[in-house]
Amino acid sequence: MVSRVIPVDPFDLVVFGATGDLASRKILPGLYRRWFAGQIPEGARIIGAARTEMDRPAFLDFARKQIDEHVGATKHDPAQIAAFLDILDYVPIDAMGEAGWEELRLKLRPEAIRAFYFSVGPALFGALATRLHAHGIATPEARIVVEKPFGRDLASARALNATLAAHFDEAQIYRIDHYLGKETVQNLMAVRFANILFEPLWNAQFVDHVQITVAETVGVGGRGAYYDRSGAMRDMVQNHLMQLLCLIAMEPPYHFDPDAVRDEKLKVIRALQPVPQTDIVRGQYLGQRAKGACDTDQPGYLEDVGDAESRTESYVALKAYVANWRWKGTPFYLRTGKRLRARTSEIAITFKEPPHSIFDEADESWRENVLVIRLQPNEGMNLKMMIKEPGPGGMRLVQVPLDMSFAEALGEEGTDIPDAYERLIMDVIRGNQTLFMRGDEVEAAWAWTDPIIAGFEARGDKPQPYDAGSSGPEDALMLMHRDGRRWREIRE
Ligand code: NAP
Repeated sequence: MVSRVIPVDPFDLVVFGATGDLASRKILPGLYRRWFAGQIPEGARIIGAARTEMDRPAFLDFARKQIDEHVGATKHDPAQIAAFLDILDYVPIDAMGEAGWEELRLKLRPEAIRAFYFSVGPALFGALATRLHAHGIATPEARIVVEKPFGRDLASARALNATLAAHFDEAQIYRIDHYLGKETVQNLMAVRFANILFEPLWNAQFVDHVQITVAETVGVGGRGAYYDRSGAMRDMVQNHLMQLLCLIAMEPPYHFDPDAVRDEKLKVIRALQPVPQTDIVRGQYLGQRAKGACDTDQPGYLEDVGDAESRTESYVALKAYVANWRWKGTPFYLRTGKRLRARTSEIAITFKEPPHSIFDEADESWRENVLVIRLQPNEGMNLKMMIKEPGPGGMRLVQVPLDMSFAEALGEEGTDIPDAYERLIMDVIRGNQTLFMRGDEVEAAWAWTDPIIAGFEARGDKPQPYDAGSSGPEDALMLMHRDGRRWREIRE
């Protein structure tokens, strides 16, 4: 299969926070990979900005190091890297100060597409928007890319939306949820809306329940202080897991068009029922003693955040319902956590039993059909079906997976899936907002999340401890067991 890379028009992209973790690991290496793929034209310019005083050669040196570290051998081509560095530049700017903006303004070309990536802490989003406007840098066509977290509750999200809206139209604002940039997430829409196969079954009549799992093996590490003010509900559920839920539950949009897709997602969020605290389990990971000579002790959550009394959750599982005709009565089980058994993200749609079994002897071996959409690792899909076990000896049934790994199904193209950030940045340049959250969507998501978090605070209890390397707290198992269901195993 021949890879189709459509070059974008020349652009000026300013990356605020260019020396930070996200820019170093994802944005700069990702932009280089798009350059290597031939998608970025020579007329493009990428300008880093941060408070650190350095000149252009020092920034190029910095960028080269990030590419060396984060780009795989197959794309690590010294000539290409040198050509890519040629389009890079740097301006020292403090988002809270007035210096450097004029220098930046002069570097930008009136005729080129202008995009500003806010890869800085959320406290600076408003200040950047305001100064871009005040210094005459924000043209009517300019785009801003806003990182997460977008607010920490409905009130702060509304305030941030209002600040941005004072200087930019909604069509200029790209709120990133990098989960939406993942290949499989977009494939979810293709599978649902480019095939007739699933849509007739995609409702409460045929779907027993949906599980959405985002499991991490890492702890909060160096982000302890930030994380402890946020927790799994704010950090993961309010954005990533809700977005995945929306893509599963939404009605077909009339067209694959940014507002048509986002209108349908918004309807799902608005239809989400409030979640009683009895349908939510919170957890905190425990520390782990070194097992072998090469291992080191792993601190628990409380040690990681340096607060023995912390009530913030590093794990959350909950049961949600979408109150509309399509999904009435179908539970959506969501769970996410740190220091779990494996790093995996998946959506599993479990279908109901056939109305009547004709295979009496095979009843015991019968298992539900499950459609599993794997986001990571090994992006792909897998449909578990019942077939006859081969061989003589009567009609015995066995469950087998119809497995589609993108890597295997699509050959080289399947293994060469661009990182979510690469795709999303290119969408910004193309002016396509489909995979970005709209302001009203973010506010609706907080409106659903806020009462849940208020409920945590009212309960005042501590999250349940769970072993590092486990599947999470015991009570999370009970959340499913009491409905006669089971979580899927967390494994890579
Ligand atoms: P970081 O490592 O702390 O980097 C912050 C960047 O902002 C640095 O380049 C810093 O450089 C710059 N900066 C700080 N204060 C500034 C100011 N007053 N004016 C101009 N620049 C300033 O943070 P990060 O992890 O890269 O995260 C950046 C954003 O992405 C955050 O909103 C974060 O929530 C979001 N995010 C990050 C990740 C990730 O994997 N890292 C994932 C998802 C979302 P100077 O000190 O030189 O100014």
